[in-house]
Amino acid sequence: MSTFQAPKGTYDILPADSATVLAVREAISAPLRRAGYGYIETPVFEDVALFSRGVGESTDIVSKEMFTLTKRSSEELALRPEGTASVLRAALQGNLHRIGSLPVKLWYSGSQYRYERPQKGRYRQFWQVGAEAVGVEDPAVDAELIILADDAYRSLGLRNFRILLNSLGDKQCRPVYRAALRDFLAGLDLDDETVRRAELNPLRVLDDKRESVQAQLTGAPRLVDYLCEECKEYHEQVRELLTAAGVGFEDDTKLVRGLDYYTRTTFEFVHDGLGAQSAVGGGGRYDGLSEMIGGPALPSVGWALGVDRTVLALEAEGVVLPTPPAVDVFGVPLGEQARRVLFGAVTALRREGLAADLAYGHKGLKAAMKAADRSGARFALVAGDRDLAEGLVQLKDLTTGDQTPVALDALVATLKEKLK
Ligand code: ATP
Ligand code: MG
Repeated sequence: MSTFQAPKGTYDILPADSATVLAVREAISAPLRRAGYGYIETPVFEDVALFSRGVGESTDIVSKEMFTLTKRSSEELALRPEGTASVLRAALQGNLHRIGSLPVKLWYSGSQYRYERPQKGRYRQFWQVGAEAVGVEDPAVDAELIILADDAYRSLGLRNFRILLNSLGDKQCRPVYRAALRDFLAGLDLDDETVRRAELNPLRVLDDKRESVQAQLTGAPRLVDYLCEECKEYHEQVRELLTAAGVGFEDDTKLVRGLDYYTRTTFEFVHDGLGAQSAVGGGGRYDGLSEMIGGPALPSVGWALGVDRTVLALEAEGVVLPTPPAVDVFGVPLGEQARRVLFGAVTALRREGLAADLAYGHKGLKAAMKAADRSGARFALVAGDRDLAEGLVQLKDLTTGDQTPVALDALVATLKEKLK
């Protein structure tokens, strides 16, 4: 072990686990690509004001969890705590909303940074795959995104997850509800910090996980009772489209999300095998965000799914994703001449698209065969001076132990046939 360790709240993804991580990213993004979402990458750091304005000063993400980087002069940067504000910033900067037709559909995959108390499923660097549909207000887009996330989880073999759905209203009806909730909260027995939160962002108090707080919220006014006709109608259409697509969901009138910019459709994917960190993904509509960061009105909807927690959810359900072995063929050279010949053979196999590796470091037969076994390869190519003198190598099937001589010049064709 070296003197250095990965920083607190971070972890390395080593080859034994990385195949699963890659498979999860692939499974989440495949349905998006099939639905016309284009891949976007943005910097891992941005102007700090993008997040304070776009995510909201009153959110934990900005007020407590942001990693800020202060460089010379007044320039203040922050590591991105989430993807939506950056993606929208990039879409506006790249004029995507003017160039193409709306909605602009984008997906991303990358690390996010939050200064949280590390625990299982909660890290300071974690990964998300996310999707945003920018510029259209249409319940079908909201439904599409929820369906695509559901398809992604199902394609991974996950079953024990649930979709929680709510509407947060819009700029007509939410302020009325907010005021009613604030009045209600003012009458409760809450600690100073929660009182402050109740003033700044009363909806966030609904999300408080503490039993002492939840117990007092029983009689709280409910958002559903305050939704305006347009919001009610919109929400009903989202629900109908999901039902018609066979996607089950639970109405959760208390579901609010950590970010300030959500309007109308709000949802969370929760997994029942994850304990306290049960949210595997979430998202919703954010009609006001573009204007908040200086753009035109662009009603939008999106989600972000946590890759780390999705991997934990797979473990919790005992789902093992089929991950192909790293190599198919492994060369075991016995002697100097064989090293040169098998090095050439392995190079030729790779150029033909086969996955091949070789025992390096002048290993003896036993150590080289052990390396072949560990590699997961289906075949070992064993060659010594006597075989080579006859233009042959021994092809050993590592699952059955059968060994057959193969002419060197027929090796590529033979292996291609056997590995088909
Ligand atoms: P939580 O309530 O667990 O703090 P959140 O509301 O902060 O989640 P979002 O901002 O909605 O999470 O991010 C979407 C997804 O990203 C989450 O559902 C989760 O899977 C993942 N995620 C968020 N924060 C972390 C973290 N610190 N470590 C690992 N995954 C995370
Ligand atoms: Mg959080």
